[in-house]
Amino acid sequence: MVKNKVVDVVVIGAGAAGMMCAGVAGQRGRRVLLIDHAEKLAEKIRISGGGRCNFTNLHTSPQQFLSENPHFCRSALARYTAQDFLKLVQAYGIRWHEKHKGQLFCDESSQSIIDLLASECDKGGVEWWMPSTVLDVTQQPLGHWLISTDRGLVEATSVVIATGGMSIPKIGATDFGLKIAKAQGLKLIDPRPALVPLTFSPETWAPFVALAGVSLEVNITSSQGGEFREDLLFTHRGLSGPAVLQISSYWQHGDQLEVDLVPDVALEDYLVEHKPGNRQHVANVLAHLMPRKLAEFWVTNAGLEGKHMADVSDKALRSLANSLKHWKITPNGSEGFKKAEVMRGGVDTRQLDSKTMMAKHRPGLYFVGEVMDVTGWLGGYNFQWAWASGQAAGLAV
Ligand SMILES: Cc1cc2nc3c(=O)[nH]c(=O)nc-3n(C[C@H](O)[C@H](O)[C@H](O)COP(=O)(O)OP(=O)(O)OC[C@H]3O[C@@H](n4cnc5c(N)ncnc54)[C@H](O)[C@@H]3O)c2cc1C
Repeated sequence: MVKNKVVDVVVIGAGAAGMMCAGVAGQRGRRVLLIDHAEKLAEKIRISGGGRCNFTNLHTSPQQFLSENPHFCRSALARYTAQDFLKLVQAYGIRWHEKHKGQLFCDESSQSIIDLLASECDKGGVEWWMPSTVLDVTQQPLGHWLISTDRGLVEATSVVIATGGMSIPKIGATDFGLKIAKAQGLKLIDPRPALVPLTFSPETWAPFVALAGVSLEVNITSSQGGEFREDLLFTHRGLSGPAVLQISSYWQHGDQLEVDLVPDVALEDYLVEHKPGNRQHVANVLAHLMPRKLAEFWVTNAGLEGKHMADVSDKALRSLANSLKHWKITPNGSEGFKKAEVMRGGVDTRQLDSKTMMAKHRPGLYFVGEVMDVTGWLGGYNFQWAWASGQAAGLAV
C-alpha cells in the first residue's frame, strides 16, 4: 500500500504570498510542501510593474486597502513593513529605485524578486511540486488536513491557501481558493475585478473614440468614496491609466464618476480673466493647460470651434470651464478579470485571525495574499499585503 506523504505544512499557490509564507515557515524548521499548478513560476510577479515589479510602497498603511473589514490588515502590515521587505531586497543585492509616491521598482527585472523568493524557500528546505494539480482539501477527524493531488495524497497539520485572485486567467489565476473557502463553510465577499480599465456603451463612447491615446493628469472621484490625482488615458472602449485603475476599485455598477480635467487651475476665473481683447482661439488658450487634441474636442463639443476668446460670452466660458472641471461619467462596465490587476472581495476576513491568517473555526486552515478580501491601491500595496500576510502565516503554521 502506498503511504500518504506527511509534512507539517502544505502551501497551495507559489506566487508572492505563498512563496513568502513557505520560506518563512521552512526557515523555522517546518517541513513545507509548496504546490502550484502552473508550468512557470510566479508569472504574476514576472509581468508586474511593467516587468520591473513595483514590489512595495514606502507609504504603506491600512488606509491604502479596501475591505469589508478595514482593520483586519493592520496587524500584519505593522509586523512586516515595506522597510522589512526592502531589507530583504537589499540583502540580495537587487538594485531598485523609487519611481514616485513611494513606489519601489526593480532597476532591472521582476525576475530578481522571483529568484529572491525561490531562494528563501530553498534556504528553508521547501519541497516543490510544480506543476501539480490539487484535487481536494479536506479536514480529517483528528484535525489534520488531507490534500489530494495528481501526485498522491498528502497529510499536513496546516494548509495555506495562497492561490491569489482571479485576474488574468490566461497565466493561471483561478477561483480555487474561493471554492475551498466555501467548501469549508467560510463566507465570501463577492469577487469582482479591480484596478481595471472602465468601459462605456458603444453609443456613449463613440464621440470619444477619436481621443484614444490622449493622456493627462486629472483628479477623479467616485460617489462611493476614493479620490485620486493621477494620469488618465482615453482608450477605444473607455478610460484607463492609473487614475481610472485606482477609482475602479471603488466603482460599482451604476455609480457616477467625476473627473477634473484641469486640476491645477481655477478654470472659470482663468478663462474669464484671459478674455478681454484676446484674439486667440479658445482651443489655443485651453491647449496651454491640456493636450491640444482634448482642448479642440471639448471646444468643438461646446460649439465654440474657431471662436476667439474676446467674442465668447462669460456665460459660455464659465459653462465650458464647468464641463472640464466636473466631467460626469457613468461607465457601463469594466474590462473584467482578463485585464484587471487584482480582485476585490474574496474570503471574508471576519472569519480569519488577523495575527495568523488562520480560519477561526477551521484550525490549521490559513489564507494569505489576494484570495482574501484585502485589496490594495495601485502602487506596490498589493505585493506588500502578500509579503505581510505570507509572513504572518509563515510564523504561525
Ligand atoms: C498585470 C499585473 C501587474 C501587477 N503589478 C503589480 C505591482 O507592480 N505591484 C503590486 O503590488 N501588485 C501588482 N499586481 C498585483 C499582484 O501581482 C498580486 O496582488 C499578487 O501577486 C498577489 O499575490 P498572491 O500570492 O496572493 O497571488 P499570485 O501571486 O497570483 O499567486 C497565486 C499562485 O497560485 C497559483 N494557483 C492558482 N490557482 C491554483 C490552483 N488551482 N492550484 C494550484 N495553484 C494555483 C497560481 O499559479 C499562482 O502561482 C499586478 C497584477 C497584475 C495582473
